[in-house]
Amino acid sequence: MFELINKNGVFLLKSTVLKSNHAFSTRIGGVSELDHTKGLNLAFGRGDDEKIVLQNLELFSLALGIDPTDVISVPQIHSNIVKDVTREDAGRGYYYPNGFSCDGYITVEKDLPIGVKTADCVPILLEGRNESDEVVAVSAVHAGWRGTADRIAENSVGAILKLGVSLENIYVAIGPCIDECCYEVGNDFAEQIEIKLGQSYKNKYIIKKENGSLYANLKGMNFEILTSIGVPSVNIDVCSYCTCCNEDLFYSHRRQKGIRGAHLNIIVK
Ligand SMILES: [Zn+2]
Repeated sequence: MFELINKNGVFLLKSTVLKSNHAFSTRIGGVSELDHTKGLNLAFGRGDDEKIVLQNLELFSLALGIDPTDVISVPQIHSNIVKDVTREDAGRGYYYPNGFSCDGYITVEKDLPIGVKTADCVPILLEGRNESDEVVAVSAVHAGWRGTADRIAENSVGAILKLGVSLENIYVAIGPCIDECCYEVGNDFAEQIEIKLGQSYKNKYIIKKENGSLYANLKGMNFEILTSIGVPSVNIDVCSYCTCCNEDLFYSHRRQKGIRGAHLNIIVK
């Protein structure tokens, strides 16, 4: 179950399925003042001064109880790369040079926050536990349609399994993203899904409306990618919010026609 929590005016979404400290940001509680970033924009390069973005990161970090200068979130490239990060990477993307690009992270280190940025794409936070139910690794993934089709969620699970975690001890929160109510796609999109994920994904998760237009369900695709490799469905929490429908809570690349802020979705062991 997802819960919307007000922490000193910063609104966060948390999933009850995860034990680790984590949050999916909303746009409420920040200091950005431009029309399109108004609120808690957490990305550079969207029109806000870098100082404003760092101030937002400080507010978000305070609400989470983490050190903002530790947060790792480098540029994303719509790949399926899940990068193993360590304490040496702390601060990359905000306070220290990027060093690399990727769309997912995994770490076994404590107090090392990893974060992915989204504004309609699917943020996925994962944790792997040992037999004593202690968290041994956390992972954060940015799954746009390309990352979804290239199975980045499966790569994250694969990286956790390599640490000796069993599939039944993997827990996943699929965060707010654009939903099938708003995510109209073209025939080329449907073809790519069929080529990469198979015809059943296309049939189930690309819905044809009466007027013939197509709408895609990225949450459903990622959910099935995870369950098809053996993650128990009861361990997977899916957020019901659509980023495009909920203007008060979220930035949306689609609704705002690309002129928008960005959310940050963090997990820390
Ligand atoms: Zn919607």
